[in-house]
Amino acid sequence: METIYALSSAAGRAGVAVIRLSGPSSRETVIRLTGKTPPASHRAVLRRFRDGGDGAAIDRGLLLWFEGPSSFTGEDVAEFHLHGGRAVVAAMLTALASLDGLRAAEPGEFTRRAFENGKLDLTSVEGLADIINADTEAQRRQALRQMEGALGLLYEDWRHRLIRLLAYAEAEIDFPDEDLPDSLLQKLRPEIESLASQIQTHLDDGRRGERLRDGVEVVILGPPNVGKSSLMNALAGRDVAIVSAEAGTTRDIVDVWLDLGGVPVTLADTAGLREADGAIEQEGVRRALARAEKADLRIVVAAPLETGGVAGDFALAQEGDLRVWNKMDLAPCPEAGVLPLSAASGQGIEAFLAALTARVSFVYEASEHPMITRARHREGLMDCRSFLARVSAGLATDALPELIAEDLRLAARALGRITGRVDVEDLLDVVFRDFCIGK
Ligand code: GDP
Repeated sequence: METIYALSSAAGRAGVAVIRLSGPSSRETVIRLTGKTPPASHRAVLRRFRDGGDGAAIDRGLLLWFEGPSSFTGEDVAEFHLHGGRAVVAAMLTALASLDGLRAAEPGEFTRRAFENGKLDLTSVEGLADIINADTEAQRRQALRQMEGALGLLYEDWRHRLIRLLAYAEAEIDFPDEDLPDSLLQKLRPEIESLASQIQTHLDDGRRGERLRDGVEVVILGPPNVGKSSLMNALAGRDVAIVSAEAGTTRDIVDVWLDLGGVPVTLADTAGLREADGAIEQEGVRRALARAEKADLRIVVAAPLETGGVAGDFALAQEGDLRVWNKMDLAPCPEAGVLPLSAASGQGIEAFLAALTARVSFVYEASEHPMITRARHREGLMDCRSFLARVSAGLATDALPELIAEDLRLAARALGRITGRVDVEDLLDVVFRDFCIGK
């Protein structure tokens, strides 16, 4: 096993920079760079770091030592806390590169070693990637929970239950002539059904965990000139969309990212929905409709026309859409159940923002249960559920215990692939793709 190193803190000038080292040559490397043996495990000491070749001093800082297996990766790990200057970091990395048996770490390689040494299951690995990528409070909380193993424990608990049931089925195979209680296999039925229903409930989560992780998609829809771009700007608090009195200026989709009460929201301002003139505008309208299709929430905007009459039609609004009457300064809203506002003056924006926040907060409404956060989890759970359905069908028709056992084994395996407890070599590159160097 090679020893790897990387800058684990962000690149660029900073108060402190952390370089991490993991692998069998860690101790030897510390001796080469500090002239002293490392301190006791989990202790920090102040040391002078010097180039292993010419012995010239590089910097003075903290050295932390974690002796394997009680370390993040499970190997011997050292952390050098240096002054975060570019030249300091560069000199230290050069000094490390010049030592034999050491190489720069690949993105996510420390965490991969932690996984391979059984320190983390795959869902915790994903939680770790998520906590590094979390932008909002709700995302951070969800990521922390997953990193600490909530999801992994749930799936492992289910998997162990399946393995226990499998033992019954195998007893039936191994001792067919023994005086085993008559309906040993039939006794599995209630347990299988209860497990299948728990998995189903877990799957029927409205994709809240995935939406919280990826961001809730909201689109603003309405005909040209009702003030969609103005509304978006008022929400974003900065000029992100082109506001113009000329119809059809928002030809493409403009996205802004908002943190609404801890929920990440991607807000898309779309091309006005009307008969498009040019080819470009037509494309804009096509994209707007496509985007609206897959959005989690749609805001439908209408407004009074300066010439009298109304631009926009709430009849087009579907159930669940948030309906907005803009330009309330020009004319009062003609309908009930619509939020009146003026994007230009800001009147009504607070109430609208509160309504919008309430609508997106469903993604993290306090739940005691950990959420599915990736398509990968969902696929594994759906596989497991299908195998359990086959087990139930097999039990109902007195199928051979061998067949029932095989389906139970496959069901357990589907869960094991989520946590990484069974062979998952093919999955690892996908899971570790989200990582940066130094983690
Ligand atoms: P979009 O085509 O729907 O994106 O509309 P824009 O945001 O580009 O706005 C169209 C026109 O309506 C612009 O001239 C805006 O200044 C104007 N406008 C937007 N909001 C208001 C408002 O609340 N009151 C009034 N009187 N005019 C507004």
